[in-house]
Amino acid sequence: MSRLDVFIDRMVSQRACLDFAIAETAALPGPAFELGLGNGRTYHHMRENITGHDIYVFERAIASNPASTPDEAFTILGDVMETLPQTLERFGATASLIHADLGGHNLKKNDLFARKVSPLIEPLLAKGGLMVSSDRMYFDALEELPLPEGAVPGRCFIYRK
Ligand code: SAM
Repeated sequence: MSRLDVFIDRMVSQRACLDFAIAETAALPGPAFELGLGNGRTYHHMRENITGHDIYVFERAIASNPASTPDEAFTILGDVMETLPQTLERFGATASLIHADLGGHNLKKNDLFARKVSPLIEPLLAKGGLMVSSDRMYFDALEELPLPEGAVPGRCFIYRK
């Protein structure tokens, strides 16, 4: 598989999983969280398709396309290892949808980080809320869901509280 193939699989899977999760969580009242803004493509997709929910974006340093840059009021700047516990104090277990795309090119490093960040993400979800991730996560009590049509196994993961 070429790097181009892997990249395309990741993009197609992110869109399929996000579309599924957005539809499944539409009736929940809480906010959506985007962990890792990057260029802002997935944030833009969420903004275009989520209605009636605030979307908060977590990022270390904003470097997104101007068309995909959230307002300051919805930007939570800093390392998620620090900002997620603060967010739990602020919002409690209310998130309807959490999308995480925090990894880079080093798969081993991504996996180690997923193990560290999973316990900080799990308590933020409302009951029935969904978590979509580009990396396998390590949750105690969330159920892993089958992938929707179009998503490529191993490129995206969906969990429900
Ligand atoms: N999904 C995005 C898109 O569609 O453009 C790409 C996200 S990019 C792969 C990952 C982003 O996560 C980077 O911008 C990086 O700065 C951010 N990130 C990684 N680790 C982080 C951490 N510990 N705290 C906050 N942001 C982090």
